[in-house]
Amino acid sequence: MTDFLDDLRQRLPAMRLLTDEGDRESYRRDETVHFEPGLPLAVALPSSTDEVAEIMRLATSHRVPVVPRGAGSGLSGGSAGVEGALTIVLTRMNAILEIDHGNLVAVVQPGVINADLKTAVAQEGLFYAPDPASYEFCTIGGNIGTNAGGLCCVKYGVTRDAILSLEVVLVDGRVIRTGGRNVKDVAGYSLTHLFVGSQGTLGIVTEATVRLRPAPPPKRTMLAFFPTLESAGRAVAAMTAAGLEPCTLELMDRTVIGAVDDWHALGLDRSAAALLLIESDRPGSAAGDELAAGEAACTDWGATSVVRATDPTEADWLRQVRRLAFRAMERFGVARMEDVGAPRSLLPELLSAIQRIAAAHEVRCGTFGHAGDGNLHPTFVWDRGDAEAEERVQAACEELYRAAIAMGGTVTGEHGIGAARRDFLELQRGADAVAVMRSIKTALDPLNILNPGKVL
Ligand SMILES: Cc1cc2nc3c(=O)[nH]c(=O)nc-3n(C[C@H](O)[C@H](O)[C@H](O)COP(=O)(O)OP(=O)(O)OC[C@H]3O[C@@H](n4cnc5c(N)ncnc54)[C@H](O)[C@@H]3O)c2cc1C
Repeated sequence: MTDFLDDLRQRLPAMRLLTDEGDRESYRRDETVHFEPGLPLAVALPSSTDEVAEIMRLATSHRVPVVPRGAGSGLSGGSAGVEGALTIVLTRMNAILEIDHGNLVAVVQPGVINADLKTAVAQEGLFYAPDPASYEFCTIGGNIGTNAGGLCCVKYGVTRDAILSLEVVLVDGRVIRTGGRNVKDVAGYSLTHLFVGSQGTLGIVTEATVRLRPAPPPKRTMLAFFPTLESAGRAVAAMTAAGLEPCTLELMDRTVIGAVDDWHALGLDRSAAALLLIESDRPGSAAGDELAAGEAACTDWGATSVVRATDPTEADWLRQVRRLAFRAMERFGVARMEDVGAPRSLLPELLSAIQRIAAAHEVRCGTFGHAGDGNLHPTFVWDRGDAEAEERVQAACEELYRAAIAMGGTVTGEHGIGAARRDFLELQRGADAVAVMRSIKTALDPLNILNPGKVL
């Protein structure tokens, strides 16, 4: 290992390389609290593709594993440390290289923060759609690594839908490009789609060409409060079945409403069992029409009140209610955010499975999430150090995964299998599909040094 670090220092003298224990310790974890990661051997902060390629040549020749990392905000242990591995942090590669109006694309390095890209293209009248709730601190490289979702996927799709091409450093240091600026391009297998969501196990993304859209009109925003969780779920299913396409359709349950209101005293209706945040960014009066149709579905399913924002500041305030959800739950103790999904028509059944399972295991749980996508984040909380409660949470999560799979759903809608849900991949996908994944992994990483122990 010392040989490897000596070689790194010698071949890349200008690159930041952290080897102090305190520094390494600070890159041990991502945001996945329940996962116990290893301590990185060292932490490299390259600033160019050439540096990443050289790191990988050396890592391959010394057979040292590596862990690619963005901002470390992941919720599946994807960028968490692996004992004895080099963590490669891509945050110094944070340039927006080009905004190409003619082709409606931007070319960016992986360390660009999602919000910075949004702001830069907005200044030119354009829109980068993917918006995880962590958009103010997560990176485009991490979003590609996880195929991140977010609040507006219900209308604009997930990160994969916004990626046209990647530059990827392979395990042996070769650099490939997977696509270009073409909207249509079917030459060969779609390597772009393969790398997106592969959680750093197949290669390291060093550049991305992302799809932009003309900036949509400002959003119109409303909150609807419901007497039961089921009625909120039925309203969402009704909106989907009616073909409504709001740009945001999010849910929070009673526990999360209370947690947010405790923290920020926003005057939310705490007697409600659930709320929905519904937004439309259609042009002109179409936005009002869409919200009216959404409101009708809500009242048909028993909504007790509906609040519409009257101006952009108020809209931002209503949106903030949802964005505060996870941090508000974290104030109760250790918070484990799960990520189950189901076909959208089964959202009410998924909500009731969460309630039933949390009650059966006597665990504290608040649920919020991307209801319009059928993707929910039941968030379990317990007191730090309460090992018995943590075990009950683990049992509840396992039962929840099985319930989601039984509905034709998923154990993870957007956070990834990572290290935390590995045991359930085969149950969901089947042995043959996992064998195909393994053969792809072996073809691209025969020594198993790219983020070992993650996904597979
Ligand atoms: C409060 C909060 C809210 C969140 N909301 C959402 C949400 O709405 N939707 C959602 O999808 N996620 C959400 N997340 C999870 C997380 O922010 C996303 O998964 C995000 O995409 C991770 O980005 P990151 O830069 O932090 O990447 P990291 O966590 O550092 O890495 C994520 C994965 O990508 C890999 N990776 C990172 N960079 C590269 C690279 N250059 N090349 C190859 N692989 C790479 C890593 O190895 C790892 O497997 C949330 C997290 C928090 C804490």
